[in-house]
Amino acid sequence: MPEGDSVYKAAAKLRAALDQQVLTRTDFRVPAFATLDLSGQTVTSVVPRGKHLLIRVAEGTDIAAADAPAPTPAPASDPGSGLTIHSHLKMEGVWQIYGAGERWRKPSYLARGVLSTATKTAVGFELGLLEVVPTASEDSIVGHLGPDLLGPDWDASLALTNLLSDPARPVALALLDQRNLAGLGNVFANELSFLRGVRPHTPIGEIADPKRLVALAFKAITVNKDRPIRNLTGLPRGKPRYWVHGRRGEACLRCGTRIESDQLGTGPTDTRSMWWCPSCQK
Ligand SMILES: [Zn+2]
Repeated sequence: MPEGDSVYKAAAKLRAALDQQVLTRTDFRVPAFATLDLSGQTVTSVVPRGKHLLIRVAEGTDIAAADAPAPTPAPASDPGSGLTIHSHLKMEGVWQIYGAGERWRKPSYLARGVLSTATKTAVGFELGLLEVVPTASEDSIVGHLGPDLLGPDWDASLALTNLLSDPARPVALALLDQRNLAGLGNVFANELSFLRGVRPHTPIGEIADPKRLVALAFKAITVNKDRPIRNLTGLPRGKPRYWVHGRRGEACLRCGTRIESDQLGTGPTDTRSMWWCPSCQK
């Protein structure tokens, strides 16, 4: 699963290419939206919400009006009528930006969405989800999310209250639940557990000073949001970027004990891999 910092970076890239630009061609390669054509619409904003990417479009801008045939002016902008292109990167998804005529770096059959302006083309490859909904109903997609670690609505005390609402929940699963706080994936859930010295399985209600856990989550994702490569250890290139994530059997960077790993959660879709140092994490 992507982490919120990846989605934040993807949104920044899409914003630089598309924001306030008129779409000259759109191609949605998902059955439900295969015939939808948003050309002529203007991108009004690109917003990351947790792990969701929202590209909002609307008709009737100054640019569109200038291009419209003389007798029929473009319809006036109506904030209630806009659409939102909603995507979720899931496992392998990525948006890439190309200049006019530039060759795609991934095979065309992996493309799920293509959004072109006069000068740029954004291609969403292997998106876990791509749909177009009225902007007015965005809440049906992202309304369930807890406070967004990288959003303007970040609220640490609400996140803490949400996390502690189910005190028996393993800390890693509580951190992963986007209804508690939005933006953390498995890397952060494992690394934050290490950094607070608790095993991922520990019930969140039993950890000392959960407020510090929330503060650390905010700090860790914030410092990584503008880094090209995520790094939780602060070690230089070539050294491990993570304390425990993906390091089963390797030596703990702090104490040398072998990192352990197992699965946590219930059901095939809800099971997560967990890693921890048996000495550093109690
Ligand atoms: Zn250790």
